[in-house]
Amino acid sequence: MGLQIELGAVTANWKALAARAPGAACAAVVKADAYGLGAAWVAPALYAAGAREFFVALAREGQALRPHLPDDAVINVLSGHMEGADLRGLVPVLNSPAQFFRDRALRPGQPFAIQLDSGMNRLGMEAAEWEAIRAEALAARPRFVMSHLACADEPEHPANAAQLAAFRKMTEGVDVPLSLSATGGILLGPDYHFDLVRPGIGLYGGLPFAEAQPAVRLSLRVIQTRDVAAGEFVGYGAGWTAPRPSRIATVDAGYADGVLRALSGKGALLYAGETGCPIVGRVSMDLITVDVSALPDVPAALELICPAQPIDRLADLAGTIGYEILTSLRARYDRTYL
Ligand SMILES: *Cc1c(COP(=O)(O)O)cnc(C)c1O
Repeated sequence: MGLQIELGAVTANWKALAARAPGAACAAVVKADAYGLGAAWVAPALYAAGAREFFVALAREGQALRPHLPDDAVINVLSGHMEGADLRGLVPVLNSPAQFFRDRALRPGQPFAIQLDSGMNRLGMEAAEWEAIRAEALAARPRFVMSHLACADEPEHPANAAQLAAFRKMTEGVDVPLSLSATGGILLGPDYHFDLVRPGIGLYGGLPFAEAQPAVRLSLRVIQTRDVAAGEFVGYGAGWTAPRPSRIATVDAGYADGVLRALSGKGALLYAGETGCPIVGRVSMDLITVDVSALPDVPAALELICPAQPIDRLADLAGTIGYEILTSLRARYDRTYL
C-alpha cells in the first residue's frame, strides 16, 4: 500500500546504463530528491552498487544528502556557486566566469567542475566566455568539464550532432575528464560517452531508457464506495455523469499527492494488474473517484503506477513526461523501500 520503491531496480538500471558506456565512469543524478524517490535511500543504494559521483541541482540538496554518503562519494552541484551557497563537502559545477571567479576567491584550492553551453542556452559558459578564462580555469584543474544535450531523447535530432561538435571544439586539448551525456546521450552511442556519464531518469525506470526496470509502484486505498444511478453526477463541477448504474470508489490521493489534475477523466486505476477502473470526474486535491463497476468485489486498494501502467503511460495520458510524474509524487504517501 502507498508508494513502493524498488531500490534493486534502481541499482540494476544504474548497472545497465553503466554497461552501455563501458569506457566512462557512471555517475547518478539524484536532484529533486532522486526524482521524488528519496535521495537519502536511493543514493546510498547506488553507492553500495558502485556509484561514486552524484549530481544534485542545489547546494541545499547537496547538504541534505552529504550525511547519507561516505566521504569518498562526490556530490556535484549543477547550479554551481551561487552567492551565499554552503558548498562545504560539495563540488560546484561552475556555469559562468562570474561563478568561476567567486568560487576561486572563496574556495581556493577546493575542488570544482566547469559546465559549458554547447547550444542548449540554459546553463554553462558560452564559447567566448570559456575562451577568455580557459587557461586560468584549466590551470586550477577542474575535476571535469561538462555540457548537456537538449534533444538526446530524439536520436535523429540534428541538435545532437551539432552539440557534440560544439563540445568537441570547446574542449579540444583539454586534459581533464569530459562529460556530455545524461540517460538519452548514453543511448546515442560511444561518441557521446567521453569520461563520465550522468544518468537520472533511466535509473528510475523512465524513458528514453526503454529497457529500464520499473522502480515505483503506487497503490491507493479505497475509502468509500457507492452505487450511483444513471444520470447522477460525480465530483466537482459535476464533471462526469453516470451513463448507466455504476459503482464508484473514492480513493485516497489527489493532485496534492501528484495525481495530476490533467488525469481527470483520463487514466485508470488497475486491479490485480489488469482490470482497469477508469478515473471518472475531476481529480480533486486529496481524492479521486473511479468506476469499479467491472469488479465483482471492491478491493481495499487499486494501483495507479504498476508494470501494466508505467510512469510514461500515465505521462502520455496527462500530456507530460515521466520525469514530471515522478517528481510530483509528494511526501504524503506511506513509503516502502524494497
Ligand atoms: C537532470 C540532468 C541530468 C540527468 O538527466 P536525465 O535525462 O534524467 O538522465 C544530467 N545532467 C544534467 C546537467 C541535468 O540537468
